[in-house]
Amino acid sequence: MIKSSCHTHTEFCDGKSTAEEMVKSAIERGFTSLGFSGHSPMDFPNTWGMTEENLPLYIAEINRLKEKYKDSIEVICGIELDADYTGVNLSDFAYSIGSVHQLRFGSEVYYLDYSAEETRRCIDNHFCGNASLLAKNYFERLRDFVVNTPVTVVGHFDLIQKFCKTDEIFDESDPIYRDSALDAVRKILEAKPGMIFEVNTGAMYRKGNDRPYPAKFILQEIHRLGGRITVSSDAHCTESLDFAYKKAEELCRECGFSEIYSLKSGKFASDC
Ligand SMILES: [Zn+2]
Ligand SMILES: [Zn+2]
Repeated sequence: MIKSSCHTHTEFCDGKSTAEEMVKSAIERGFTSLGFSGHSPMDFPNTWGMTEENLPLYIAEINRLKEKYKDSIEVICGIELDADYTGVNLSDFAYSIGSVHQLRFGSEVYYLDYSAEETRRCIDNHFCGNASLLAKNYFERLRDFVVNTPVTVVGHFDLIQKFCKTDEIFDESDPIYRDSALDAVRKILEAKPGMIFEVNTGAMYRKGNDRPYPAKFILQEIHRLGGRITVSSDAHCTESLDFAYKKAEELCRECGFSEIYSLKSGKFASDC
């Protein structure tokens, strides 16, 4: 059983629980380690990232908890680095998750994880109504960000599928969608052999999705090309810390992974 997560949010960004509440809940669940990944500050106004002013407070609080609970759990300070990040010194963090959350066109910002309506507006306004072209743009952006930035983990690889349960915006069988997703996996692993991708259960909790990010065909390609995986919950509250872990682990095994990586001694190591 997996007893760890590297993807955890708190009140320092858009989480609903304090960092200490998250640590206590992780201990109750028998976790051996918990990595915090507050949203990085970003170079445009937003309500969900940390500010450059509270970033040092976040680091200090996670380090305080690391010391306070060191006999019960390993607490690790990481960051979720958005492609539009600003003001972050990566050496302050044990690891970083590289993620794309929005597409921007001049002053227009479209959050890909906000609502199906917002995603559809972006498709209509900027991709001639063709959802696969938005997907291609998203996967290229994620690929370039991960290849060109020293991040440790690839975050929620197909985040654009967040609303797939209620609104089938994207067709994974469309060659444009499929090829651009698989091309991003290939280019990332060519540039960074053995890169870690997260298997993220966040939308299973928040949206009732049947599967974690990424889809099975993407996971199979990650496995085929020697990529590594870690299971995480992208928890924004204590209740979801290990949500659907069993199902995520089963999917990883089905895709051929014999090893799943978790945070250990401040690094990612094979867990089981
Ligand atoms: Zn994210
Ligand atoms: Zn997150």
